[in-house]
Order: sequence, then C-alpha cells, then structure tokens
Amino acid sequence: MGPGQNPISSKNGAVIGAGASGLITARELHREGQTVVVFEREKKVGGLWIYSPKSESDPLGLDPTRPIVHSSVYESLRTNLPRECMGFRDFPFVPCVDDFSRDSRRYPSHREVPAYLQDFAREFKIEEMVRFETEVVRVEPVDGKWRVRSKNSDDLSEDEIFDAVVVCSGHYTEPYVAHIPGIKSWPGKQIHSHNYRVPGPFKNEVVVVIGNFASGADISRDVAKVAKEVHIASRGSEASTYEKLSVPTDNLWIHSEIETACDDGSIVFKNGKAVHADTVVYCTGYKYKFPFLETNGYMSIDDNRVEPLYKHVFPPAVAPGLSFVGLPGMGIQLVMFEIQSKWVAAVLSGRVTLPAPEKMMEDLIASYAMLEALGIPKRHTHKLGKIQSNYLDWVAEVCGCQLVEPWRTQLVDRGYGRLVSNPENYRDEWDDDDLIKEAYEDFASKKLISFLPSYFPKSGR
Ligand code: FAD
Repeated sequence: MGPGQNPISSKNGAVIGAGASGLITARELHREGQTVVVFEREKKVGGLWIYSPKSESDPLGLDPTRPIVHSSVYESLRTNLPRECMGFRDFPFVPCVDDFSRDSRRYPSHREVPAYLQDFAREFKIEEMVRFETEVVRVEPVDGKWRVRSKNSDDLSEDEIFDAVVVCSGHYTEPYVAHIPGIKSWPGKQIHSHNYRVPGPFKNEVVVVIGNFASGADISRDVAKVAKEVHIASRGSEASTYEKLSVPTDNLWIHSEIETACDDGSIVFKNGKAVHADTVVYCTGYKYKFPFLETNGYMSIDDNRVEPLYKHVFPPAVAPGLSFVGLPGMGIQLVMFEIQSKWVAAVLSGRVTLPAPEKMMEDLIASYAMLEALGIPKRHTHKLGKIQSNYLDWVAEVCGCQLVEPWRTQLVDRGYGRLVSNPENYRDEWDDDDLIKEAYEDFASKKLISFLPSYFPKSGR
C-alpha cells in the first residue's frame, strides 16, 4: 500500500482552493456526509475570475520568488463559451434579469462569472466552509492520513490532519513561455498573457502576439486598438501564411510561427517576413504547479504531465486520500469539475470503489503508451479535446451521475468552431439557436428557471 492510501471511508476532507472546482467539490463532499474545510488564499470565492488590475513584477513569470497574482483575467475579457453550457448542471449560468448591475449577454464580461460563482456559493452555503486568506503551504501523507499546513494573513502556521485532500488550486497562473530561437539577445520587451491587463502600455508599438486561440485572438485585437501594428504568430498555420486581417483598426496581420528573433530587434517569421517589434506577448498557455505537495517523490510533473494520475484524478498509490479536480483543460470546464468531484465524493464516502492501485497503474501505463503511439506529446496528456465527452461519460457512469447532455457538448463544439472562424464577432453572432432552445427547454423541464433570456429564439424564427 502507498504512503497515504486510505481504504476506509473518509469523514473529513480538505479542499485547496475556492475557485469553481473547489466550490463544487466542497458541495459534493458535504453532500456525501464529509466535514469540509476549504482553504483559500484570497479574500473571496471565484478563483481566477477575480480580476486584479495588478500584475506580477516579472512579466514572464520566470522568477520563482516573485509574489504571485493568481488571476490571468484581462479587463476586456468576455467568456469564450456561451453561458448556457458553462454553468453547473443544477444551477445554470443564466442571466439575472432582475439585477441591472449584471451582464445578461450570452457571452458575458468576466465580472459576471465570479458573481455567478458567488451566487452558487451562497445558495449552497459553501462560504461557511471556506477559510479565506489562508494559504496551504504543505500537504503530506502521515500514517494513512494527510497533514495540511496552512498559513493565515497574520503569517501564523497551523498543522491539521485530514482523512482526504482534494487539490482544486487551478492551473492558469504559472506561465508556459514558448522558446524562440535567438530571443536571449533580442532587445525588446516580453510579457506573458498571465500579466496582460489592458492595451494602454502598447500604444504606438509594434507588437508580436504568439498564439491564436482564445487569449491570443482576444489580446491581439485588444492591443490593436492602440498599437501601431500587431502581428500574430500562429503555430497551427502553414509556413507560407501571411494575411492582413479585416479588422476596424486595419493594423493586424497573421503569420506562420516565428523562425527567429534577432539582436537588431527584428522578429523573423517562417513565411520569410520580418518586423521590428517593441514587444512580444506570449499567449502560449500555462504549466501545472503544486508547490505545497510533498509525496516523497511519488508524484511528479514531467513535461507538464502530472503523474501518475488515474483518469486525471487519483494518484494510484495514495488514492483516494489525495485527488485532483479540474486538471484537464479546455472544453466544458464547470460540468467536468462537477462530475469529477461527484466521483471523488462517492469514492471517499465508500459508495464507489476504485480499482486496486496496480490495476490503476496498468490502465495509466496503457493510456500513456497510447498517447505515445498516436504521437501526442507528454505535455498534452491533460488536453482532452475531442475525447472529453467520452471521458466525462466514463466518469459519470462510474459514479452513477447523469451523463453530459448532448446539447451541451454541441454548444461547446459549435462555439469553438465560431471562435476559430469568426474571432472578431463570435460572441455576438451565432448560428446555434436550435441548441439555445434545447438548453433552456431542458432547464425549464427541470424547473431550474422561471423565465427566458432576451436572446432565446422564438419558435419559427
Ligand atoms: P481557479 O479559478 O484558478 O481557482 C483556484 C483557487 O485556488 C484560487 O482561488 C486560488 O487562490 C486558490 N489557491 C491556489 N493555491 C492555493 C493554496 N496553496 N492555498 C489556498 N488557496 C490556493 N472556462 C470556461 O468555462 N469558460 C470560459 O469562458 C473560460 N475562459 C477562460 C479565460 C481565461 C483567460 C482562462 C485562463 C481560463 C478560462 N476558463 C474558462 C477556464 C477556467 O479555468 C475555468 O472556468 C475555472 O474557472 C477554473 O477554476 P479552478 O477552480 O480550477 O481554478
């Protein structure tokens, strides 16, 4: 048996983080009869959605001693998924029509998300379980249980023992900075999207934005409002790609990826074009990091794969005492947190059993071998992409909860399709009225709503 493996049912659980994943985990553990303490180092629930105009002192986030700013949200951010597929299933993320301070758009501003999460926390009395301004600094197995050391705002440390710890600390805070040949001697400024807030500092500059998915598409257009020129480097595009995009500011180009950065200040793209740039903005993603976790070498992060982790949730030898909710990125996030946390709660209460550790390891080894055979790099282990719905159905079946509604998966697929084909206007122009109707009819049939939003399609439209 592993150092912290816990075959008996758990009575008290610690949850690290009061973002979306921590909130739903706290509710699910509580529903299964656990006493729950949620540790949250910030002052409010909401996690990365709590906007901070402050950014970190090191714009690339390379200095390990820098004070951390958790949020990666920029001022102009609106959700990149339509709200009806984003929310938890028994508490849909629908417009608050009675409250004019709220944003009722289908793709609302980032401020609407923490407001929704705070409504959720209030509705299910989760705030009562949260210890705010309390950071977990160490988690380690001791005699089949888990010792959690936390530090409060007065810098006072406390050690407590829990039957189980669920890690819900998020993974959009530690920048992944893509390597560019020659960048060491390139003289310009560099910043990661984690530290991007507003376009003002880029006024009249020539800016290169690396990455062209959700954040890259948004930030390039935000910066283009004030910059002289913005050039997007897109890894997914063919080497010859060079196109001026049709945007109102008329100063945005898309290129293939960067070939090299030069000491004269130029950035050369694989299409042969070169620009003299003032700033490079990296929209190149994030790394997993759990600085508080001490498992005596049992767990590690190798090339951004958190291992070993059965179905992205349980480390076999120390399960179910230690688990992770929210690791896989992209796609349906909150409903994934909900399904994963129902599984964790069911296992901890003893209602559902995990396979033996060696069986979980066999499964993991086979899944790693499959990724390798498919040519999928290690660092994409937790990027589920198209297989997310199969994964969620598998977990839902194991813990006996409702499968993901087909309309929800289709909303995500069509939403991401629009993001790619129409990055300028995908949040305000859509072609999925049929799915909106299906979603709201589903909410109504479950008596979760008593009204319809203004954008609900009238029949026959
Ligand atoms: P977080 O929200 O990051 O919460 C983690 C919490 O843990 C934080 O409150 C943090 O303070 C706390 N914490 C961390 N370490 C400790 C510690 N040691 N001790 C105590 N507390 C700790 N998803 C969507 O569904 N729709 C979108 O439109 C969308 N847009 C996004 C845009 C951006 C720019 C980014 C970066 C992500 C976006 N996402 C979106 C994905 C997003 O990850 C999820 O929506 C979700 O909010 C993440 O929740 P979480 O609880 O896993 O992490």
